[in-house]
Amino acid sequence: MKEIDELIEISQFYGRDNRFVIAGGGNTSYKNNEKIWVKASGASLATITEDGFAILDRAMLNPMSEKEYSKDVFERERQVKDDLSAATITKGKRPSVETSMHNVIDYPFVVHLHPTAVNGLLCAVNAESELKRLFGDKALFVEYTDPGYVLFNKVNDKLEEYRSKHKEEAQVIWLQNHGIFVAAKTIEEIKSIYDEIIAKLEGAINEQLPTGDVDVPENVVEIIPAIRMMLSDKELKTLRIRNNKLISYFSESEENQKDIIKPFTPDAIVYCKSNYIFLNGKDAGVILEESKKNIPEFTARFGYQPKVLLIKGIGLVAVGDNAKQCDILLDVYEDAMKVAYLS
Ligand SMILES: [Zn+2]
Repeated sequence: MKEIDELIEISQFYGRDNRFVIAGGGNTSYKNNEKIWVKASGASLATITEDGFAILDRAMLNPMSEKEYSKDVFERERQVKDDLSAATITKGKRPSVETSMHNVIDYPFVVHLHPTAVNGLLCAVNAESELKRLFGDKALFVEYTDPGYVLFNKVNDKLEEYRSKHKEEAQVIWLQNHGIFVAAKTIEEIKSIYDEIIAKLEGAINEQLPTGDVDVPENVVEIIPAIRMMLSDKELKTLRIRNNKLISYFSESEENQKDIIKPFTPDAIVYCKSNYIFLNGKDAGVILEESKKNIPEFTARFGYQPKVLLIKGIGLVAVGDNAKQCDILLDVYEDAMKVAYLS
């Protein structure tokens, strides 16, 4: 089917560009009257093929927006998942939890992404007013809600409000602290809408992100192996370090670190969790003393080990089970730094 080839093309197009997609974030869909093809959980946009899409029966999805679900959040999310899987034609492929949102937007192609530049705006304190200043009063802004059915309901209400007010279907939906939905009849139109949005956002930025390399210092050999052992009491962990001008903007200043103490987006929470360790000791000895105290305290308090440490003079350190996992953590947290810097 020509449309499915186009869906694959646009998915890979954005999936391969790290300004738009970090790790597993984002999803895409195509629909006709009967069916919707939506990225399945576990598939990655960059390498997706036809096999990476779940196909769902829209006649079974459509009633979900009217249905009464449980008031209990866990029960409700379970019921919603059950309904989604009942509507899935390609059994065994789990559709994204964001499928219902794709389904209610009345355009064939929908591309939902979490671009850095977009989240730089959507994670700002004055996100809504900035959005309207740049994109006009018509821009459809949805306040932050935890991902899941409640967010879907809110988006659905906002879409209906938009339809009755403007007598047309919204093509762009901005989700606070999350990302953006772009919808259109063709993939060319999707690209041109994204191009226009990114160009406008980049033009509006008064400060450019710090770029350039920073060397990892020699005393890293005194610090990293020791920290690795502190984190490897159950199993041997892999640690990876990254440093550059953006990272050192945060690692060298406790004042700047205040902006990245908490995550802004679901992506950051999913991959890096919600708490991080900041070590600001003046030399290797002090940093190791701090680690000996902070790491066990952190683990006891939050019930999990830190995935991300920011160490003064060293840079950003990821803790994972293997190098690939560490690279994903570094990419996601560095993206969170960009968002924090821009917002
Ligand atoms: Zn999303």
